[in-house]
Amino acid sequence: MTHDKSRTILIVEDSRSYRSKLRDYLSQDNRYDYTIIETETGAEGLKQYRIAKPDAILLDYILPDMNGLEFLHALQQQIEKPDLPVVLLTEYNKENLASQAIESGAQQYLSKSVLTTENLRLSLHHAIKQGELLRQVADLQVQNDRHLKVLNHKEEQLRLALASAQMGIWDWNLLNGHIQWNREHEELFGLAPGSFDGNYETFDRCIHPEDRAMVHQCVVESIESHTSLCHQFRIVWADGSIHWIETRGEVYFNAIGEAIRTIGTVVNIDARQQAQQLLQNQLERQRLVLDMTVQIRRSLDLPEILNTTVNEVRQFLQTDRVTIYKFAPDWVATAIVESVGMGWKEILTTQISNTYIESYLDDFRQGVVTQNADIYTVEIDAWYLVLLESFQARANVVVPIFKGEELWGLLTAHHCSAPRQWQPSEIDLVKQLSNQLSIAIQQADLFALAQLELTQRKQAEMTLQLLNTEMEQRQAVETLKDEFIGIVSHELRTPLTSMQGALGLLAMGLMDDEPEQMKQMIEIASIETERLVRLVNNILDLDKLDAHSNSIEQEWCDAHTLIQRAIDVMTGSAAAAGVDLVLECPPLQIWVAPDRIVQTLTNLLGNAMKFSPPNSSVSIAVTQINEPMPERAGRLDSVRMAPTSNTRQICFAIRDCGRGIPADKLETIFNRFQQVDSSDSRDKGGTGLGLAICKSIVEQHQGRIWAESEWGQGSTFFFILPQPMYRSRAEPGTLEQEDFLNLSSARVSLNL
Ligand code: ADP
Repeated sequence: MTHDKSRTILIVEDSRSYRSKLRDYLSQDNRYDYTIIETETGAEGLKQYRIAKPDAILLDYILPDMNGLEFLHALQQQIEKPDLPVVLLTEYNKENLASQAIESGAQQYLSKSVLTTENLRLSLHHAIKQGELLRQVADLQVQNDRHLKVLNHKEEQLRLALASAQMGIWDWNLLNGHIQWNREHEELFGLAPGSFDGNYETFDRCIHPEDRAMVHQCVVESIESHTSLCHQFRIVWADGSIHWIETRGEVYFNAIGEAIRTIGTVVNIDARQQAQQLLQNQLERQRLVLDMTVQIRRSLDLPEILNTTVNEVRQFLQTDRVTIYKFAPDWVATAIVESVGMGWKEILTTQISNTYIESYLDDFRQGVVTQNADIYTVEIDAWYLVLLESFQARANVVVPIFKGEELWGLLTAHHCSAPRQWQPSEIDLVKQLSNQLSIAIQQADLFALAQLELTQRKQAEMTLQLLNTEMEQRQAVETLKDEFIGIVSHELRTPLTSMQGALGLLAMGLMDDEPEQMKQMIEIASIETERLVRLVNNILDLDKLDAHSNSIEQEWCDAHTLIQRAIDVMTGSAAAAGVDLVLECPPLQIWVAPDRIVQTLTNLLGNAMKFSPPNSSVSIAVTQINEPMPERAGRLDSVRMAPTSNTRQICFAIRDCGRGIPADKLETIFNRFQQVDSSDSRDKGGTGLGLAICKSIVEQHQGRIWAESEWGQGSTFFFILPQPMYRSRAEPGTLEQEDFLNLSSARVSLNL
């Protein structure tokens, strides 16, 4: 085989001397390393060629067993190649043989007479190169043939694919405006094969009028934006049928950016479009059923649900009237809700006679849906036809509605504008909605029942409450009566008995001669009368306080002045008891009912003095506390104040040095007719109502009252009154906080 520098040469030559001459020449060529194989005969040469596969053959024309042409012929058959790397060696003047040899496949010829090292090398070189070239050409030819075959095959495949995919191809020359369609394209457009004339106008005429502008726009946009073309449009065949087409294409531009050609495909997408429409319808149906279900779950308002149903169903069916009828117990059907399209008659409240209904009652009870595509082509009862005509209906659907097992009413749809073939999917939807309605009707019924029960229960509760209040009131009256009887029998009877005794004695004249005793009796009667008057006053006072427990009239007062008023009332008794009254009170404005507070102070001062030993003192101290009111409810049944951040209180403390109050009485003494000792009323002239009155007054001020004492060590009565914050300057005649603080506290000692 040929290497870069090595070459194998087969010499077929019967003359030994000439063979050695050839070898000599070749050995003088130092550009290649020659391997030389020599044969004397043609047959041997052919054999060696098979074995050694030399790069070239130096062939003598005259051989013992054949001539050069026969050798070439045999060689060509052996290697089946046109490129025989053979240099034919001829005798002088035998050039005609040479041309025959070239035709038979030899590459070169060389006359033995002009043989030199150089022309031998060149001839061999050319023979080899030409051979190689021919081989390459032959290879290319083979490859070409193969490609052509593949191409033909592919073209056939494409044609088959287009045919089986029913895909049309268009090729639009934008320069001359000519359009080419394949056979499938024509078929897709409902045209006979070969009938398309290649004009855009013909194509345009096939497009649905509503889609023409859009198709044109798409083509223009695709050219302008250099993008692929893809859009769907409708075409109308000659028979008027409408078909959906999808087209895809590419635009080709020349070197200067000019659109020259656009090629693309068309397919029919009717099936896809139908599937999409079907899916769309299905989705729409599902949405409607879902909406209705949600609404039914959410609302218990049946009229609202029924109204929504008729509106939604009419919209979904794209029909002219949807009505719901309700059956009366005698099967008269009344239209209770309807949705009706513009221009069509309203039939709300229309009643359908039970004689008509009864002929269909069995069907309705079994849930049978009746539908008519055209009332004039189907066989229906004459009355039914008249009825539907009166409703302007041309086609109708009737679906029964149930409440549980029981037939409740009908859902009807009327198509008035034209006959209408109702689709099974439409009927199915109306049936589904009628089922949902059944649930809604049942729910609404249950709800109404529950509401009725609720109202009844509420009424019963109210009656019970009324009875309770009445009973409580009766009990309160009973308690009051008992209390009154108690007061009368005990508190009032005691002084009255004393008076009766004293006056009786006087009346009998037993004392006529005893002026001293008589005087004593009159005194007793007078004292008891006074006590009785006091008692009656106190009872009336308490009653008044209770009756107006929420309305006291408060005003801004000077604390000092109020206490002074109470002291003034008590001055006489204090002097008589030999008790000093000591007042400690800073100048303070307080928000109170002045007379009531004077009454409280008078009461407490009176008690303090009553129980004070002579020559002792009773002190009254007033302080302001800027803190929430202390919790003392554990000790006193007083009104609790909700502490707030800006509350302030005024605390009054009345302290005496008397006998004190035992711990277990500290709270009870604030109850009516409660005294530490039963003799207190007799000895001290009390009524046992004073502290109850004080407590009532303080509580009306939202305050608290309590007593602290150690037996034998005197007692202190406290009461605290919550106060509003100071008024702002904006209010005329008001005082700011500083006004109070600037006033120095005063200590007043009254030595009476
Ligand atoms: P009375 O008219 O009996 O004083 P009160 O309701 O004012 O009625 O007082 C009830 C009772 O509380 C008194 O009878 C007395 O036993 C006791 N009490 C009130 N104040 C004092 C006090 N400062 N010291 C001792 N006991 C008192």
